[in-house]
Amino acid sequence: MEAQETFPRVISVDDRTVEPPHVWRDRLPSRYRDTGPRIVRAPPREMTFLGGRFAPVMGAKGDDGPVGHWWVYEDLHRPLTRLDTAVGYDRDEIRLEVITYEQMRPGSFSVPDRLADMDVNHAQSALCFPTFPRFCGQTFTEASDRGLGLLCVRAYNDWTVEERCGPEARGRLIPLALVPLWDPEPAAAEVRRNAARGVRAFAFSEIPPHLGLPSVHTDHWDPSLRACDETGTVVAMHIGSSSRMPPTSADAPPAVGSAITFANCCFSMVDWLMSGKFERFPNLRIMYAEGQIGWIPYILERADVVWEENRAWGGVADKVTRPPSELFAGHVFGCFFDDAFGLRTSTRSARGTSSTRRTTRTRAPPGRSPRRWGGADGAPGAGRRRADRARQRHRPAGADPGRPLAALGPAPARPGRHPVTSPAQWRRFLMAEREHMRTNSGQVCDPCIRETAMVDTLRDVHERSL
Ligand SMILES: [Zn+2]
Repeated sequence: MEAQETFPRVISVDDRTVEPPHVWRDRLPSRYRDTGPRIVRAPPREMTFLGGRFAPVMGAKGDDGPVGHWWVYEDLHRPLTRLDTAVGYDRDEIRLEVITYEQMRPGSFSVPDRLADMDVNHAQSALCFPTFPRFCGQTFTEASDRGLGLLCVRAYNDWTVEERCGPEARGRLIPLALVPLWDPEPAAAEVRRNAARGVRAFAFSEIPPHLGLPSVHTDHWDPSLRACDETGTVVAMHIGSSSRMPPTSADAPPAVGSAITFANCCFSMVDWLMSGKFERFPNLRIMYAEGQIGWIPYILERADVVWEENRAWGGVADKVTRPPSELFAGHVFGCFFDDAFGLRTSTRSARGTSSTRRTTRTRAPPGRSPRRWGGADGAPGAGRRRADRARQRHRPAGADPGRPLAALGPAPARPGRHPVTSPAQWRRFLMAEREHMRTNSGQVCDPCIRETAMVDTLRDVHERSL
């Protein structure tokens, strides 16, 4: 049985959308036409990305250098970059450089083209994080005009629901709302306004204090969390949503931050588990997009030990009444895009409470040793060989890796949906998916590659969003 051909299409929880130029131009009052987000063409004067900080400087007309499209908003100048939408480009071409809309694959911003790309990509549905607003709307949080910021947040959500995830999307694009993080009551109102029209996820920051906002240990977020609790809305946190990657040194190259992007998720999850919020809001659920999963078993073990042994001085005995690993199982979902270690350990963990285990359905079948269950058939290398064969079939006919833009062929013929009958099938599927994503990420996947670990969770979100 071949994994790629016998499993249902993926529901991605971490795609990206590039906002088309009209999102705010068409939806803001006319008096904001000169200060609201708008697109201009310009060359870059400077493009640096050091110590986790992207610092572009927009050039003037006539300056040397390639012309790109830039978002201009108040005094912010933010270019569209190849990193924003690398689809169709070889890994060696994915550099930090300005691009125009014409230089990106249309599926980055056009709904019909995106659906066609998803067909090629074996994806049924996708939840998309924003690009210009950044992962949880930091762009508007940092703006000086808070009234305009709120209008921008609402305009983004209206565009998301009415256009991006509207009838043209045929239910395949899952909406993700922004909220005005700087003001708790309007934020809660925005959660409820969007929940009333079917939105079941909103974007939040991994570590709000990095944005100058209160932590989850305060009551500041309770109105929004109560709204989530009552409406079944998931708190979705993408790596980078605290605007600061885990710091090492100020002159560290981007590769350092890229290798340890999970760290903020790790710190954030411990914050939440020790916050008492899951005790107060029993239906609250949070997720970490692009955070990977291999680190989760260790930190749950450590958090449980701290909760138990340091109870006299840990500061949480009065509000966290259950072990963190137990809270995790009911409230937290991890996601991965490339984590063989996480897949292996998620099947071997001694704990029976991991959401990643449950979500990926990788529990060892009764009577089988998890250790012997290491390969797809228990045979060394069998999973990789199967994944290689599956990958060959998954590649569109005539499309070489890295072939740009519209050169991709039509979607390969695929059988319909098949029942998943065993944990081993899920594991084979996920490992094959991982191989596919590694090989094709420059070809047909969004740079925020579809993540499979939350299949169950997001199917639930998706179905309730329709
Ligand atoms: Zn992502």
